[in-house]
Amino acid sequence: MTAGVEDAGLQDEVVRLLSRLIRADTSNPPGDSAAAAHVLERYFLDNGVEPELVGESHELSNCIARVAGGDGPSLLLLGHLDVVPADEKEWMHPPFSGLVKDGYVWGRGALDMKNQVAAQAVALVRAARRRRAGETPRGDLIFAATADEETGERCGAKWLLDTKPDLLRADFVLNEGGMDMFAPGDGHVYTIHAGEKGYAACRITVSGRSGHGSVPLHQDNAVLGLARVISALERYEPTVSTDRLPVAVIDRIVADPRSRRSLKEPATAYAAVRELAAVDPGAAAVIEPLLGVTFSSTIVRAGGEAVNVIPSRATVTVDCRMLPGQTAEDIRREISRALEDLPDPWEMEMLNFMPGSESPPDTPFRDAIAATIQGLVPDAEVLCAHFSGFTDSAHIRAAFPGTVAYGFCPFIVESGATVRRRLHGVNERIAIADLVLQTRFCERLAARLLA
Ligand SMILES: [Zn+2]
Repeated sequence: MTAGVEDAGLQDEVVRLLSRLIRADTSNPPGDSAAAAHVLERYFLDNGVEPELVGESHELSNCIARVAGGDGPSLLLLGHLDVVPADEKEWMHPPFSGLVKDGYVWGRGALDMKNQVAAQAVALVRAARRRRAGETPRGDLIFAATADEETGERCGAKWLLDTKPDLLRADFVLNEGGMDMFAPGDGHVYTIHAGEKGYAACRITVSGRSGHGSVPLHQDNAVLGLARVISALERYEPTVSTDRLPVAVIDRIVADPRSRRSLKEPATAYAAVRELAAVDPGAAAVIEPLLGVTFSSTIVRAGGEAVNVIPSRATVTVDCRMLPGQTAEDIRREISRALEDLPDPWEMEMLNFMPGSESPPDTPFRDAIAATIQGLVPDAEVLCAHFSGFTDSAHIRAAFPGTVAYGFCPFIVESGATVRRRLHGVNERIAIADLVLQTRFCERLAARLLA
């Protein structure tokens, strides 16, 4: 059967490419992505596509390829090449082996996001083959795999947008995100990430009075004050505004009607999400960050080298995330509210602020994604939601206000909860069936938009 032969060819091609991409260790830090960019370059050249490797430096190479079409709408398939580091001792199989075993491709980047990069590269090569056979697309199909997304200090996508924006300019951008797949009893629910939260780093300093450790002046020990700050931030329930509540997500993925009602009431939303976490942690993990700002205390500094000196200053740096539309002022107000009853003098410094961003949720791009996934998974439904993390889509939206950028990457074997546990974790791996689904999805989405 022709379809079967084609599928076997597609599967071999994408599995082999992903495996080679994983073997090119692009851990960030240090963030050298050149080896992976060269794997893509080789793959494209072997398949008659002329890629472009450009970057701030050789280590920060970005790989771009294009199948030129007519004047119709263009689609950019965007991904990043760098991965977070992995400690080999904790893994069942070496994280940079790209091992193919028991129906999985193993290794760091198998889910974030060399899988999607491989799927997108194969989709582009197959579109190029069809173009050579005489099928010219209505608009350009563009592929870009960039350096330094994970730490973002020398972000490849940002560099491209600043120095060579025409390489990435497109009407529609498909990027990472949207990996949540729910199976709430009947059917499959997929999330398109149409927007994403912004982030800020805030340093909070607590002052006390230094003294000798043998005379514990508890009321002045800055370390104890800092402990109170950290636990107040943990206990704080941020303001929930009714106009930002993720109603569609709550309605579709929360089974219990009483729980749904409580989640949609600002006064009870946080209590309800804590209850939900006990019965359905996957759903709770999606909903909680969408209720408002979040705070995670991540870096603590206090004291010097001497154990017998009570320090007069102690600081915590807090990872703050806010919804699109929330401002630096909102962050300041929420932190002030969280800490208003504390006895300790504290001050706050905002070290950076990157606002949230969003594309409109109702667009032809959303319709094309929905129709394409429904062609592959007949009972699929799609929902638009914000992503709790940060991706290069924010840079794209800032550079090209008219562009619609979404995060979407479908799974059928693994649920969103399983995928999320393995992201940045040990034993990262992808089911080959999911990788094949992602490849066919990219290929068909491009065909639907551009053919
Ligand atoms: Zn990523």
